[in-house]
Amino acid sequence: MTDIVEIINKAEITHSLTKMEIALLLTDHEWDQQLFMAADRVRNKNVGDQVHLRGLIEFSNICQRNCYYCGLRKDNGKVERYWLTPATIIEFATKAQEYGYKTVVLQSGENDVYTLADMQYMIGQIKALGLAITLSVGEKTRDEYEAYKKAGADRYLLRIETTDRKIYEKLHPGMSFENRVRCLTDLKELGYEVGTGCLVGLPEQTLESLAEDILFFKTLDVDMVGLGPFIPNDDTPLASERGGTFMLSLKVMAITRLLLPDVNIPATTAMEALNKDGRMIALQSGANVVMPNVTEGEYRKLYLLYPGKICTGDTPAHCRGCITSKIVGIGRRVATGCGYRVKK
Ligand code: SAM
Ligand code: SF4
Repeated sequence: MTDIVEIINKAEITHSLTKMEIALLLTDHEWDQQLFMAADRVRNKNVGDQVHLRGLIEFSNICQRNCYYCGLRKDNGKVERYWLTPATIIEFATKAQEYGYKTVVLQSGENDVYTLADMQYMIGQIKALGLAITLSVGEKTRDEYEAYKKAGADRYLLRIETTDRKIYEKLHPGMSFENRVRCLTDLKELGYEVGTGCLVGLPEQTLESLAEDILFFKTLDVDMVGLGPFIPNDDTPLASERGGTFMLSLKVMAITRLLLPDVNIPATTAMEALNKDGRMIALQSGANVVMPNVTEGEYRKLYLLYPGKICTGDTPAHCRGCITSKIVGIGRRVATGCGYRVKK
């Protein structure tokens, strides 16, 4: 047996690897299929064959941050900015519930357009529909996180993006790695199901640094890990960078599944932007969640983080049908519950 196969076997059995072992897996290409198959077995054994659907509402593209990689960054003057009213957001959530979603993800740029009272009102109204609520609205104070939680929010997504402090601080002007970690720690302490993740293929990022990212997810004992390739956007300072590949992102995801066997892992949209079957391949390599877009009308096109975003011309009804048939097509089934993490 080669060293690589031994490392894959060890990960499948113990769910534990050293940074060096992870980096070796990421360097190797010969045994990729074995890695993906092992991640698929671990997924099946620990979270089963159900796929959880989360309806994504991109409710505002206004952002006060300037993350170098993101199309929504404040200094990108080419974006036509929008913000949906609380009434519209609640209407989209109601429709998502009618399409059969059990969870909605409310995502936006980081902004102060919505007051705390607006957020509490929206969360309360959506919660009353019987939906689980995931928020993804960036860095806030502990008091704000606590108020959202009390209003009924269940989960929070905040990617660490990279655990390499130097890269983190270069790409996030005016932001600090410490505060990012503080946010994640606060969210955990407040009882949220916490999701984090990273971008794969950032400038200067090494395979060792990606290994550190995976170990960070494990140390923090997060409940969800969403990761995908960094895709360069022409209207950002990283326009001329190469970006991440589908294959490396898939490998980081598969290793994450081996090390965190019972967490929820989405097959991300960015993966499908680089490979037309990206989400289904991800579902067969460790993922168990998909987040179809339930934002209506023209807004999808205006929430452009990177070029090649999928499904921008589709309706929520179309996306629901399309994703269900793809999931059934690979022999899996759409979950009927809210899909909280069941810790093993
Ligand atoms: N503003 C919130 C935040 O930053 O947490 C939520 C929205 S933000 C657009 C959601 C995620 O989009 C980020 O965590 C980032 O990883 C991802 N993203 C932004 N620009 C991207 C790019 N060029 N390629 C791939 N993913 C990107
Ligand atoms: Fe704003 Fe989030 Fe994009 Fe950063 S990643 S610019 S915080 S929307």
